[in-house]
Amino acid sequence: MSQNNSFEASTPVNKPSTAYLDAMEQSILAKVAAAHEEAAVDDRESYPGQQALWEEASASADANQPLAEMIVRDLHDHPETAFEEHRSMALLSGIASERGFPVERGVYGVPTAFEAEWTSPGYDPVVHPTVAIMAEYDALPNIGHACGHNVIAAAGVGGFLAATQAISSLGGVEGRILIQGTPAEEGHSGKEYMIRGGSLKGVDAAVMIHGFGYDIGSQAWVGRRSVQVTYRGVAAHASSQPFMGRNALDAASLAYQGIGLMRQQMPPSDRVHAIMNGGDRPSIIPREAHMHIFARSLGTDTLMDLSRRVDDIVRAAAVMAGVEVEVEWDEHPMTLPVRNNEMMVERWTRAQALRGRTALPAGTVPDTVAASTDFGNVSHLVPGIHPMVKVSPSDVALHTEAFAEWAQTPAAVSAAVDSAAGLAQVAIDFLADPQFRALAQAEFDAQGPVSVQELLGE
Ligand SMILES: [Zn+2]
Ligand SMILES: [Zn+2]
Repeated sequence: MSQNNSFEASTPVNKPSTAYLDAMEQSILAKVAAAHEEAAVDDRESYPGQQALWEEASASADANQPLAEMIVRDLHDHPETAFEEHRSMALLSGIASERGFPVERGVYGVPTAFEAEWTSPGYDPVVHPTVAIMAEYDALPNIGHACGHNVIAAAGVGGFLAATQAISSLGGVEGRILIQGTPAEEGHSGKEYMIRGGSLKGVDAAVMIHGFGYDIGSQAWVGRRSVQVTYRGVAAHASSQPFMGRNALDAASLAYQGIGLMRQQMPPSDRVHAIMNGGDRPSIIPREAHMHIFARSLGTDTLMDLSRRVDDIVRAAAVMAGVEVEVEWDEHPMTLPVRNNEMMVERWTRAQALRGRTALPAGTVPDTVAASTDFGNVSHLVPGIHPMVKVSPSDVALHTEAFAEWAQTPAAVSAAVDSAAGLAQVAIDFLADPQFRALAQAEFDAQGPVSVQELLGE
């Protein structure tokens, strides 16, 4: 006889209500409809940037559709997790070297990173700008390409080829375009390690895309810090001599409660989540207990505030329980929120419209529906964009088996091809249009650069 839930529960067990999600979906759909209506009456026949180059880049992205399909499927069939992406890196860097681009592997201190370079015939590093197109390719443990980084890779490589082919055939643009293979995004901050190795030296702007359930020009991504906490107490017989023990699990439990109570006073920009474990048998006062906590926020300053409060709580809990504590922040470097450059997003949006996609404006999907990415760190050092491209139906979340399934469909391939055209176009405009470049830079300068190492006083 089951003793679980012997009283009549007033709400169904293990069935969270979808009421909030349903209401959010309705509000998103209304915004999507309004955005499509606006797009329909807008004059989208011409591109405000480099029209002839756009047509050439767009045609090149289409011509490389079989290549995009090969990358999407090949990476999906051979998923590799953070820092293990040797096969993926070899495939992608091989495509660039086969086409005659100089390629370097294991760049900026990361063995599975790569970079290929194109420079215009008259390129002068003092005078001419550089755009980096970024390609991720790491998968998640157990569920493969459930974040669709195979699609990001296909879009990045396709964008690099489309931009360089268009400029090479039409000429008239001076500058440098890089494709940077940026591994280990999932929880490992690969881009921050590359930044510390010099990946952004001489780079004036960075662009990449991410798959999603909607096309969105500018979507919020929260910054993230991680903390590992170890409490060490004194084991004792829990019945005969409990007074001779100091309970490490008590400390973890107090910290867990402290974080829970803090939540009411947190700003809506913030998220904190924790797991804990400790002890072997109820009859032994636990000598050791562990917590792993993530703190996230939409702002860099609020993220630093939140992490200081979490730090206070985990240390205070040790004092209450009378045990030792070891606090290790950021086993991999923290990630910052994404700062989308709206000048560049506008170009992206126009370019996507010409591909038949309506890139929805910021705020279409609420900022609270946010994850974290190491591109945030890039976007705090150079002007950048990280638009979302529709790969799946809107109710499919990233990091699910369902999203992994969608990441190998024709929808994923067409997302990669349309994105390749869009990335190429933004890169071309950045090189070709000094006025656009100055406006993008001015927008960036209004907030100024922020480096993780400076932020942490390292
Ligand atoms: Zn992910
Ligand atoms: Zn991702």
